[in-house]
Amino acid sequence: MTTLFRNALVVAMDDEHRSQPFRADVLVVDDRIDAVGPDLPVPEGATVVDATDRLMMPGLVNAHVHSWEALFKGRYDNLPLELWMLLSYPILGVEPMSDRLVYLRTLLVGLESLRNGATCLLDDVIEMPTQSLSALDAVFRGYEDIGIRANCSGNIVNRPYIDSIPFVEDVLPAELLAEARAMPPRTVEEYLMTSKEALSRYDGRAGRLRYVIAPSGPQRCTDDLFVAANELSREHDTTFHVHVLETKMQAVTGREFYGSTLVEHLDSLGVLSDRATLAHGIWLTDSDITRLGEVGASVAHNPISNLKLGSGIAPWRALLDAGVNLGLGSDGLSSNDSARMFDVVKSAALLHKVTQPDYTTWPTADEVLWAATRGGARSARLGSEVGAIAPGRKADFLMLDLRSVNFTPVNDIAQHLVYVENGESITEVWVNGQVVVRDGRCLLIDEDAVLEEIRELGGEYLKKFAKVEDINRVFEPYIRDIYQRCCGEPMGINRFSGDERAWVGAL
Ligand SMILES: [Zn+2]
Repeated sequence: MTTLFRNALVVAMDDEHRSQPFRADVLVVDDRIDAVGPDLPVPEGATVVDATDRLMMPGLVNAHVHSWEALFKGRYDNLPLELWMLLSYPILGVEPMSDRLVYLRTLLVGLESLRNGATCLLDDVIEMPTQSLSALDAVFRGYEDIGIRANCSGNIVNRPYIDSIPFVEDVLPAELLAEARAMPPRTVEEYLMTSKEALSRYDGRAGRLRYVIAPSGPQRCTDDLFVAANELSREHDTTFHVHVLETKMQAVTGREFYGSTLVEHLDSLGVLSDRATLAHGIWLTDSDITRLGEVGASVAHNPISNLKLGSGIAPWRALLDAGVNLGLGSDGLSSNDSARMFDVVKSAALLHKVTQPDYTTWPTADEVLWAATRGGARSARLGSEVGAIAPGRKADFLMLDLRSVNFTPVNDIAQHLVYVENGESITEVWVNGQVVVRDGRCLLIDEDAVLEEIRELGGEYLKKFAKVEDINRVFEPYIRDIYQRCCGEPMGINRFSGDERAWVGAL
C-alpha cells in the first residue's frame, strides 16, 4: 500500500529538525516511511492525500505502563506506593483474572493509548497472584488485534512482596509475616523457561510485538535472577526494564538490604548497560546519575504516577546533563489514572518548573517531545525504528487537524503539542503503515462491544476484588509505620522537593 501525503506540516523529531516544523510531502510505502521532502513524485497506484491542513508527527511512545491496573482507574486516592500496592497488587486471597478479562483489559489499554496518540507502548505485564503463559498470550493477542506496537514483559518478582520492604521483621506479627510468605515465589529456572518460550512465540509477531525482559526491582528479585535475566536480554537484544528508586522507602531499602544504593547494587551485579531502563529513577544520588549516564541507560519518567502516589520528583535536568536517555511513561492505570500520553507530556513539562528557581534549567517543549518519541523508542530498543518521521522508519505517526480549537490561533507548534494539545485534534493514527484510529475511533475492534463486555466481566471481578482489598487491609497499619519511619530517615537527598536548592523545600 502506498500513500503520498501532500504538503503536511511535519514535526519530524529527526536528528536534523527535532521539533522544528516544516512543510513537506511524506511517502508511506507498506509499513515504512519511504521519503520526506518537497514535491515528491506520485508513485504508480499511490493514494494521494492533501495534508495542507494537517500536522504530521511520530506517534508517542509510552515507556512504562502496567495493563494489570486497567480495571482500577479512579479507585484509590491519597496512598503512597507501598500502601497503595497492598490494595492494587494484593498479597492475600487474589484470584487470577480470566484470560478473557486479561484480553479485554489489554484492549482497553490499547484503545485509550491509540486514541490519545501513543502508537507504541511498553507494558510491564504483571498478573496476580502470579504470571502465566496463557494470560501473557491474552495480552499479546489484545495488542495484536487492536493494532498498536507493543513491547510486553512477563514481570517477575521472586521474593515475597513483604520481603521487599525493610524493617518487616521488627514490625509485623510473626503469624502475619508467615502468611504473607506462604506462597512460594517463582524460581529463576521457571522465569527463564517461560521467557524463552515467550520470546520464541511472540518476538516479532505482526511486525510490531516484542517480548522484553523485566525483573521487577532490585529489592523484589534475587541477585541470581538479575544476572540470568540480563544475560537473556543481551542474547535477544531486548530492553532490560527494572523499577528503581521510585520511593524514599526504596532508597532506605538499598541501604538496609545491600549497604549501598540500589543502582550501586545493580552495578555490582554487572547488569547496568545501554539496554537498562530504570522505571522512575527518582531517589538517585549524584553518583548514581553519573553512572547511569556513563553506561548509556534510560529512565522511564512517569510524572503523573509520581505525583499521584507522592513518590517524589525525578531529577530531570541532572539526568539529561549526565547523558541519561529519558522516556515518558503513564505508568499503570491506577496510579495515573489513564494511559493518555498527551497528559503525561504536559505534566512532564510542568512538574520540574517548581523544583528549581533557575528557569534556564526547566524542561523545554522540544526536550519533552523528544522524550515522548525518540527517548521512549530508544528505551524500548527501537531507537532506529520508530519515534521519527524519516525515510526508513516504521510508519507510526499521527495526523492532527490544524483547524482545531487547539491550534487556533497557531503560535509555537512544539508548545502547542506540549501545553495545548490533549489528543482532541488527532484525526488519524497510523501504526506499521496501517490506519488504526480515524476520527477518534479504533478501526480494528468493535469498541462498543469491547467496552460493554468490560463493564460486565470487569464489574464482576471488581465486586470480588473489594473483598480481597478488605483482607489485605490487615497489613496497612504495619506498612504505614514503616513508611513513616522511612520518610524520616536522612538519606542526603530530598526528592520530595526536587533538589537541595528547591524553593518548594525551602518554604
Ligand atoms: Zn511500574
